[in-house]
Amino acid sequence: MRKISIFGATGSIGQSTIDLIRRAPDAYDVVALTGGGNIAQLARDAIALRADVAVTAYPDQLDALRAALTGHDIEAAAGPSALIEAAQRPADWVMSAIVGAAGLAPGLEALKQGATLALANKESLVCAGSLLLETARRHNARILPVDSEHSAVFQGLVGEDMAAVERIVITASGGAFRDWPLADLKTATVAQASSHPNWDMGQRITIDSASMFNKALEVIETREFFDVRPEQIEVVVHPESIVHALVGFNDGALMAHLGAPDMRHAIGYALHWPDRRDLPVERLDLAKLAQLTFRAPDPARYPALQLAYDVMARGGLMGAVFNAAKERALDHFIAGRIGFLDMATLVAQVLAQVDERAGEHGIDDAMTLDTVTRMDHLARGEVDNAILKQTG
Ligand code: NDP
Ligand code: MG
Repeated sequence: MRKISIFGATGSIGQSTIDLIRRAPDAYDVVALTGGGNIAQLARDAIALRADVAVTAYPDQLDALRAALTGHDIEAAAGPSALIEAAQRPADWVMSAIVGAAGLAPGLEALKQGATLALANKESLVCAGSLLLETARRHNARILPVDSEHSAVFQGLVGEDMAAVERIVITASGGAFRDWPLADLKTATVAQASSHPNWDMGQRITIDSASMFNKALEVIETREFFDVRPEQIEVVVHPESIVHALVGFNDGALMAHLGAPDMRHAIGYALHWPDRRDLPVERLDLAKLAQLTFRAPDPARYPALQLAYDVMARGGLMGAVFNAAKERALDHFIAGRIGFLDMATLVAQVLAQVDERAGEHGIDDAMTLDTVTRMDHLARGEVDNAILKQTG
C-alpha cells in the first residue's frame, strides 16, 4: 500500500484527488488530510479514507474537528505547526493543493522527508522555486507537476532531450471576460469573475484566470519546472481548453497535449507516474469538437501577463513579492474594496517600488523560507498601504 497525504484535501484539487484514490481503496494508506474551514468535508473524508490524522489550518476550528471525528480513531490537529507536523509523517506521495503561499512550508517539509510531491500549489514554485527544487535535490525527493499545462509539457518531454527544446507554449482559456468589451472590465464584479467557461476550480484561481494572473504564475512555474529561458515561454489564448500545452523542438516539430478539461487527468498522471493507468476522464471526439482556435493574448485585456516576464527579468525574491501582492490584491477585490483592473495596477506598483521599500534586506537576499516570508509580508503590507492611501 502506498502511503499518501493530501494537503488542501477539501478544495477542488483535493476532492478530485480523493475521487481517484477512493476508486482503489486497497492501494492507498492515507496518512494525513488537511483543510481549512470546511470541517464537515474534512471529517467525512478522513473517516471514509481512515486517515491517521486530520488537520485544519485554523486553530479556532479544532474543537469542531474533534467533535466531527468523535468515535473514530483519527487524530485531530490545527494550525500552521500542525500542518508542518503532518508533512513530517512518512508518506510516499503527497498532494500539495493548499491555495496560496500557505502551501510552501508544508511542501518543503514533505520534500525533506523524501516524499514525491505532486504540486498543484503553483504559488510555492513562484515564490520559492529554487528553494523547493534545491530541497528536493538534497533529499532525493521528486516534484511532479499537477497544473494541467505543466503536466502536459512534462508528458511531452518524456524521452526527449531538453537541449532540443526550442520553446514551450502554454494555453490560456482567456477566462470569464475573454469576449467582454474592454470598457466593461473596470466594473466587473466578483460573481462575474468567479465563473470559468471551461474548468471547475476554486474561486481564487478562477478569478486569476479571468485576470490572467493565473497564467502569469504559470509562466514562472514553467521556467522553474523546465529550466527554460523566459523568452522560450509563450502563452496563447485557446478558448476551447482542449490543448493544454505544446513543446516546440529544434526540428520544427510542435508536440501538443490534448485532453478534456478535467484535472483528474493531470492528478492521475502524477499519482501513477511513471506508468499510465486507466482514468475516469472523458475521451475526446475530435470530429464533434470540429475546431480548435488560438489567438494571441491582448496585453490591454491581460496586463498581468507581462508582469511575469518583468518578475523573471528581475529575479531574486521578486517571485515572492509578485505572488504575495497578487494574493493580497485578490483579497481586496473579493472583499469589494477595489475593482477588477485595480489588481494588476496595484501589483505593478508594488513591483516597481519594492526595491526602494525593502531597504537593506531585499530582493537579492539568499532564498530561504525566512527571506521569502519576509518579502511576502512586505508585499502584502505594500498593497494594504496603497489601498489605504487611495481610500483615504
Ligand atoms: P480551493 O480553494 O478549492 O481549495 C483550497 C484548499 O486549501 C482547501 O482545502 C482549503 O480549505 C485550503 N486552504 C485555504 N486556505 C488555507 C490556508 N491558509 N492554510 C491551509 N489550507 C488552506 O483551491 P483549488 O483546489 O482550486 O486550488 C488549490 C491549488 O491548486 C492552488 O494552488 C491552485 O492554483 C492550484 N490549481 C488548481 C486547479 C484547479 O483546477 N482547481 C488547477 C491547477 C492548479 P477549506 O476549503 O476547507 O477552507
Ligand atoms: Mg493551469
